[in-house]
Amino acid sequence: MAVIQAGLTALPRGRWIAAWVTLLVVGAVAMVRVDIAQRRAAFEADARTVHRLLSQRAAQQEAILATLALLAPAAAGPDRPEQRLPALYPQVLAVLRRDRDGAWPVAPVDASAGTHRGVDPEALAAAEAASRQAGHAVLGPVDAATGQYTLVLAAQPTSYALRIDLQRMVPPETWPLDRAGPVRVSLQHAGQTLLLQPGAAAAAQPEGLTPGFVARQTLSAVSQPFELHLQRAAGPAEWPWRGLLAWTLGCTAAGAALAQFQRQRSARRRAEALLRIGQVARLNALGELAGGLAHELNQPLTALLAGTQAARRLLDDDPPDLDTARHALQQAATQARRAADVVARLRRQVEAPDATRREPVDLASAARQVLALLAPALAAQQVRVHLAGSAPAVQADPVALEQIVHNLVGNAAQALAEVPAERRQLWLTVDADPGHGRLTVRDSGPGISPEALPRLFEPFFTTRPQGLGLGLSLCDTLAQAMGGTLGASTVPGGGAEFRLTLPTAHPRRASGSTDPLP
Ligand code: ADP
Repeated sequence: MAVIQAGLTALPRGRWIAAWVTLLVVGAVAMVRVDIAQRRAAFEADARTVHRLLSQRAAQQEAILATLALLAPAAAGPDRPEQRLPALYPQVLAVLRRDRDGAWPVAPVDASAGTHRGVDPEALAAAEAASRQAGHAVLGPVDAATGQYTLVLAAQPTSYALRIDLQRMVPPETWPLDRAGPVRVSLQHAGQTLLLQPGAAAAAQPEGLTPGFVARQTLSAVSQPFELHLQRAAGPAEWPWRGLLAWTLGCTAAGAALAQFQRQRSARRRAEALLRIGQVARLNALGELAGGLAHELNQPLTALLAGTQAARRLLDDDPPDLDTARHALQQAATQARRAADVVARLRRQVEAPDATRREPVDLASAARQVLALLAPALAAQQVRVHLAGSAPAVQADPVALEQIVHNLVGNAAQALAEVPAERRQLWLTVDADPGHGRLTVRDSGPGISPEALPRLFEPFFTTRPQGLGLGLSLCDTLAQAMGGTLGASTVPGGGAEFRLTLPTAHPRRASGSTDPLP
């Protein structure tokens, strides 16, 4: 047996929370993905720009060397034109040369122009030999610590070498990245790494240890086959936390507003349903009242009519004032008839509940619906409600059935108010006999006294100070109109029990489930 608590019609809170969490997570994931995609696109565009710029500079350095070899400026003398190159090209720290039969210099040729360290002449000679073999400029010694490298071109009569400073290769105004920004940029060659900018701490970690973006591409100048390497971290620290916070707050606010809207809507529906039941109840009570009045008045009126007619016949026999008496009696008779007519008309106008509408109705569902309507009141009264059982559909007027159940549960709630809160229990049980479905409403209230029991269904019988005494008589009338019965008894050990029986609707299938909870 299921126990219905105060939350009988409460919103399925768990489902709301699940929907909210799902929306939150899906939105946040989408936001992070879009943000990552945008940053990846920007990173790749930056990588392409850096590659293009460095490749252009590398090609420019190749062209300088080729021009020098071609022109072979006059040997000796401080005014050799190649010594002016560092002033024109900031990345060229020094120009080294080896004339025919000469040797590569040991120290910088122009100390004022260069901050470079001396280049090992043997290494230069080896590079020159390689250049001669390759037929183009080749990389000479690379110094990872200072970020400098040498480019050597073997030529006749003079071979040249350029000492290049990587940091100055691209002027700051054309460099597309923030030098202190999160992207790490380096050139790698033969196991050596020349750092262009260090990037954020996370990006400095070995690749693979940190999630992020990586771009690798070899410079397009044949003489300087450096692999350009860009790396940027993209871990949680880089996520759009402000946007995520705004999204969370927005979702929470929208969820709260929706929940509030739902609460108001269900409260409004409940109020409308109660109002409808109340209106039907008032109408039916009026009909019942008319019935009671007719019953009360018709008897004396009929007697009055019979009496006056008899008096008229007697007066006709012996009249001291026959005309007046006859007239008076006729008036009385006419008035009496009129009074009877008025009562009859009143009764016709305020029609007794006919409950002529018939359709298959599930008793358990009807009970559940009424309990849902009264849930707040029952919860406020701390009544523990139990609903169980099922039965084949019965043939009934749904409105009349709802009204009966509403009355029975309402009466039970009134009775339960007389016992301590911890003893307040209400059981609604649905079961069936062959041909009939039955709803039993039992409470743990004070029960019905033996004197009251036989009179419960009489119109105007009440033991309550504010009672009208029409509820049960109306329920009885409605039940009978639907071909059913309503009975009452006291429960041994306390409490009252009302049994509503209605004819089965002859359906082929049984209705209701064994779990009647909403
Ligand atoms: P009213 O509720 O206006 O008194 P009703 O016709 O609904 O009129 O009820 C008639 C009487 O039946 C009540 O005054 C009460 O004495 C008795 N009664 C009805 N339901 C119960 C119940 N569940 N427990 C005890 N007495 C009840």
